[in-house]
Amino acid sequence: MGASALRLERDIDRITAGWLADLATWTLDPDAGETGTCTLCLHYAERWQLDEVPHALLHLLTLPVEGAVVDYASESFGERRGAVSAGSLRNLASRQASLRVLAQHSAIAWALSAYVEPQIRRLAARLLEEIDAR
Ligand SMILES: [Zn+2]
Repeated sequence: MGASALRLERDIDRITAGWLADLATWTLDPDAGETGTCTLCLHYAERWQLDEVPHALLHLLTLPVEGAVVDYASESFGERRGAVSAGSLRNLASRQASLRVLAQHSAIAWALSAYVEPQIRRLAARLLEEIDAR
């Protein structure tokens, strides 16, 4: 493994740890509505087994991870001088990044159930009350 591959892992660890730390204070915006998930989040949600996470929250993780993946892929593409296609380097980097995130899966699942799921349950209960009140 090259130095830049190790740097990718370090970057992903730092991004994931920062996102986890922010989870404790993240608030669900009930007025934001569900605008649907972007293709980036669809791609990673499946790999990370995080399909249930609100898109606004998931996007805060997928965006910097994808940034690190693209940076790493273009850097190693330069190093290898086109011996491997840019697309396959990107896929490789994306898989490597996903493994790093998955290594944190139990910590992520814990934080989601502690901080995010109660908010979703409260919002769902409020929506049901509003429907009943009509
Ligand atoms: Zn997204």
